[in-house]
Amino acid sequence: MDSLITYFIGAGIVTIFVYLYLRGLKKKERQWHAAAEKGNLISQGPKAQHPHIDANYCIGCQTCTSVCPEGDVLGMVGGKAAIINGYKCIGHGLCAEACPVGAITMVMASPSVSAEMPRLTPEYETNIADLFIVGELGGLALIKNAVNQGRECVDIIAGRRARSPAATAPEVRDVVIVGAGPAGISASLRAIEKKLNYVTIEQDRVGGTVANYPRQKLVMTTPVEFPMYGKFKKMELSKENLLAFWQKVMQRADFQVRSGEKVEEIKKDATGLFTVTTSKGQYRSRSVVLALGRAGTPRKLGVPGEDLPKVMYRLIEADHYVHKKILVVGGGDSAVEAAMGLAHQVGNRVTLSYRQPAFSRIKERNSNRIEECIRSGKINVIFNSAPVEFRQDSVVLDVSGARREIPNDYVWIFAGGTPPNDFLRKIGVQLGDLDLTDDARRETHQQGSGGSPPAAATTHHFGAALRF
Ligand SMILES: Cc1cc2nc3c(=O)[nH]c(=O)nc-3n(C[C@H](O)[C@H](O)[C@H](O)COP(=O)(O)OP(=O)(O)OC[C@H]3O[C@@H](n4cnc5c(N)ncnc54)[C@H](O)[C@@H]3O)c2cc1C
Ligand code: SF4
Repeated sequence: MDSLITYFIGAGIVTIFVYLYLRGLKKKERQWHAAAEKGNLISQGPKAQHPHIDANYCIGCQTCTSVCPEGDVLGMVGGKAAIINGYKCIGHGLCAEACPVGAITMVMASPSVSAEMPRLTPEYETNIADLFIVGELGGLALIKNAVNQGRECVDIIAGRRARSPAATAPEVRDVVIVGAGPAGISASLRAIEKKLNYVTIEQDRVGGTVANYPRQKLVMTTPVEFPMYGKFKKMELSKENLLAFWQKVMQRADFQVRSGEKVEEIKKDATGLFTVTTSKGQYRSRSVVLALGRAGTPRKLGVPGEDLPKVMYRLIEADHYVHKKILVVGGGDSAVEAAMGLAHQVGNRVTLSYRQPAFSRIKERNSNRIEECIRSGKINVIFNSAPVEFRQDSVVLDVSGARREIPNDYVWIFAGGTPPNDFLRKIGVQLGDLDLTDDARRETHQQGSGGSPPAAATTHHFGAALRF
């Protein structure tokens, strides 16, 4: 009898534990589903290399969901791992390394995205001789790839310069470097090291995408050879510390960058020299390195106060902003998606200003959701309006001809802009459909096997079939 009671008590305890476990799992799955919904609201998904999960192999152990440094990129849906916040993925590949059954491989973004990659030789050269592309614009994300490619590309330019030292007019540079993100910084520092006559042009501020990361973001990297410094061995550090490190090396090297200057046109003449036209002037050079990243150039409104730090053109982490008074400007998908993403954060009061009388060019999905947000009071949409001044704590709008001042902490402007591919097409760079999956996989593999710099992988970036 006693053993029967013990048996029933034991079975009861086990049942309670199983019940609690399953209930916890169900709750977590509901949260993952909600996160996936929210992720879809914010973006279409990953733009560069990201994990592909083979559901046939996945055993649902959840290892991958806990290793990602970017947070909830992956979650469990129906007992299998799934991408729930693809827009947060920047291609570290730690999930692929951690998966005990090899269910994850690193692949590039959707075919429509990879079909738009510039065609490059293994020396990062485009179809236009001496016009090079490095960093994320070439297809592979991550700081280490940008640094390696910037450095290696300038080595190639310096090698060519040494082989053909023909004298040119003093105002003709050896190289114009466009963009001062990690790829452009690395290329510029290498140009200093190699004693090339260079100029670096940056439309915004030094640091590129890294400078736009959310405050105190933890940056993951792997040991990399940094020009004018040597081996940079840190595996993770804050965005601020990484920028401070670059600043120190740049100062020591006396690196000069022309910031606030945008490159608008590049032409090559019959003598083989380039003329690079910017918003402020013209430069002549023997070669050009494009390190533009893939974020594109946002259009500014030209309104007083637009240079205040609270005015932004890209929303990276909506979750970072809570209990704030926010104005989003624009009427396209990006504006609507940003407004909805921000309105879902705790305590935010979001106003959307659009100069037209109605939304006319947004996706049906966004149209339905914004209608719902307006009905539920989550977003205040003001049609026929446009900002006329940004002030420290407020914004002045012109609403159908009348001025209206509203309290404000942050502004996001989505007024269109030039995607880098439009710029590439304009200057004659050929784009094509490249499958970079093998490159992404190799990067992941190298990262997992001790983090040695992937020099070989980046040098032989694209297959021989793609050479011109
Ligand atoms: C939120 C987020 C988190 C990330 N976290 C990590 C991480 O932890 N670790 C990691 O390794 N990677 C991370 N990445 C990816 C990494 O930041 C990028 O892969 C890297 O910055 C690419 O460097 P880049 O130099 O090629 O381009 P970018 O950093 O994008 O720099 C391009 C520069 O070119 C300038 N430019 C563009 N057009 C022009 C023009 N016409 N004229 C003049 N200048 C121009 C831009 O203003 C910009 O400054 C993250 C990305 C994001 C979005
Ligand atoms: S680590 Fe691998 S097996 Fe485990 S949940 Fe993630 S994908 Fe599935």
